[in-house]
Amino acid sequence: MTTNFHTHTFRCKHATGDVIDYAKAAFQQGNLVLGISDHVALPDDRWPEVRMAFDQLDAYEAAIDTAREHLPEMQILKGMECEYDTVYHGYFEDELLGRRKYDYLIGAGHYTPLNGAWLNSFSELGPPKALAAYGRYLAEMMATGLFAFIAHPDIFGCSHDTWNADLEACSRDILEAAQATQTPLEINGNGFRKIFSSPTNGRENPYPWRPFWEMAADYDIQVICNADAHHPHQVTANINHSQALAKRLNLTVVDSLKWPK
Ligand SMILES: [Zn+2]
Ligand SMILES: [Zn+2]
Repeated sequence: MTTNFHTHTFRCKHATGDVIDYAKAAFQQGNLVLGISDHVALPDDRWPEVRMAFDQLDAYEAAIDTAREHLPEMQILKGMECEYDTVYHGYFEDELLGRRKYDYLIGAGHYTPLNGAWLNSFSELGPPKALAAYGRYLAEMMATGLFAFIAHPDIFGCSHDTWNADLEACSRDILEAAQATQTPLEINGNGFRKIFSSPTNGRENPYPWRPFWEMAADYDIQVICNADAHHPHQVTANINHSQALAKRLNLTVVDSLKWPK
């Protein structure tokens, strides 16, 4: 059985399929646990191009409830993949985890706060200051205790061709926070599907980036292997590659969520 806790629906505008399609795909493969974690709806509809509108939240939850009714043999978890900003803290804690009874939230740094602006973490983490801000941001996220794990901590690989001392310092900040808070870090399957047109310095994809995970082996942390599925046929895609990397580096893999912590 393969568990995947990172799954998107059509509502985020860059995925296809709804909850039931993913659940059926998982069930057909013999998997009885599936976490649904679309890009979080935000009360102020910030960054609307990559997430559902706030007024779609009820329909998203209803889609999960419907899939649970259709496939009662399965455990389908209600989650969201979240950007963190202090202005959303109460919404995540009291509204999503509280009143709406979400099973878990994922923390993710698709954007990085720096000097009052938000950088795109997929393309703008080149400068040392931006990298340092990204490391601080993930550490802050983990310290909130709101998140069951952190998605693709090594997406800084999208902004760099070669490993360097600034990447190492940023990684240290992330890994120390993961150890201190015992927050699992995700080895993201979707990264394996982002293949460079030609290999760069022996790398075929921007992340998972091996030097980060080699460093991770020196810390008392857990890793979690997820598909980050954006299409129903990807419901467990590349989890085997994430697991193989973890195994090669002797990392401790968890395949269930400790929530609440
Ligand atoms: Zn996405
Ligand atoms: Zn995702």
